[in-house]
Amino acid sequence: MIIKPKVRGFICTNAHPQGCAAHVQEQIDFIKSKGPIAGSPKNVLVIGCSTGYGLASRITAAFGGGANTVGVAFEKPPTDRKTGSAGYYNTAAFHAAAEQAGLVAASINGDAFSDEIKAQTLALVKEKLGKIDLVVYSLASPRRTDPKTGVMHSSVLKPIGEGYTAKNLNTDTLKIADITVEPASEDEIANTVKVMGGEDWELWIDALKQADLLADGCRTVAYTYLGDKLTWPIYGHATIGKAKEDLDRAAAAINGQLTSVKGAANVSVLKALVTQSSSAIPIMPLYISLVYKVMKEEGTHEGCIEQLYRLFTEGLYTSKPRLDDHNRLRMDNLELRPETQAKIEALWPKVTEENLFEITDYKGYNDDFLRLFGFGLAGVDYEAETDPLVAAPFQE
Ligand code: NAD
Repeated sequence: MIIKPKVRGFICTNAHPQGCAAHVQEQIDFIKSKGPIAGSPKNVLVIGCSTGYGLASRITAAFGGGANTVGVAFEKPPTDRKTGSAGYYNTAAFHAAAEQAGLVAASINGDAFSDEIKAQTLALVKEKLGKIDLVVYSLASPRRTDPKTGVMHSSVLKPIGEGYTAKNLNTDTLKIADITVEPASEDEIANTVKVMGGEDWELWIDALKQADLLADGCRTVAYTYLGDKLTWPIYGHATIGKAKEDLDRAAAAINGQLTSVKGAANVSVLKALVTQSSSAIPIMPLYISLVYKVMKEEGTHEGCIEQLYRLFTEGLYTSKPRLDDHNRLRMDNLELRPETQAKIEALWPKVTEENLFEITDYKGYNDDFLRLFGFGLAGVDYEAETDPLVAAPFQE
């Protein structure tokens, strides 16, 4: 088949296998160009390994530190008539590159929140890696079934306390209009914390510890976003921010759990950039387009892989990590520079449909969005007949 992007709202419903492989290769090339990362872990588990920050974590560990990796993701396999999801193709490409480099890579496809997938992953870790020295928790999901109660919880992206009206870009129509988001109910807040808070991260670490799979000095990290004034009403001080606050509680609890192996847990604050998850958050596409514009002009622009390289070298594996007073590793330092935020805040009220492509870097945002699904990569022939089937990367 000839594979062209099928974009519906903030999601692209198909993906290009060779394009995704090229996207993965670009990230591998970036990490290799930086040279080996001193002190990097050797056995790594990445939960949410197939796209965005989790994929970049896996690539950094493998190609910056020579790590053997096990990954968990929730992805759609291809059929002979329909493409698989981008994360499926990314994982296939990662496996092929890891194998070529002589690294162990094994992956599980399924619901990481479930007891079954945890048990399968532990068995795979035991078989392929032995004890682990880094666990990356990088799930982004709209829902979670609690394995103890069987209840399915759904998260919402809503403000807390009062409604919020702000400028929003419809990425389908490129129309800019105010949207009003009503405040969340107490139930909705609690459900969002249940899905995106720290409970499942704790369950993973607990299960790994019970199975004696944590190496001495094991580190674990979960990712969050804090942002500044423009995004606080919909992120930092909203339902998702409440859930992310719960990660701080979980990190402290996990630190207690890890004392016996002299390990450490940190939340890491990463910058805003386009991924399959962030494109679904109201306000974010416009905000990120302005971040891209200002940070590219400043020469401080970064994607997932640049952020992860800095997390390893300026956060996890350095004697002088950049920690805040909540014990969080801060990689959002460039986005949150006061002068950078001041420029973004000054541009924000001026953006209109007419000047979208001048005042903001919406083009860069949209190009990066399409690249997430393997479209727009150099060297890929998008007019060529393409087989959607690839060698299955996940354990059967
Ligand atoms: P993403 O959508 O690119 O990645 C999500 C990953 O989770 C994928 O590998 C997916 O397969 C996996 N996944 C989702 N549900 C699953 C399930 N039930 N079982 C197993 N795997 C599942 O998202 P991302 O933006 O890379 O987000 C990763 C983390 O980084 C999140 O915690 C997010 O809040 C955080 N973060 C994102 C940004 C941003 O701007 N994108 C900024 C800071 C922090």
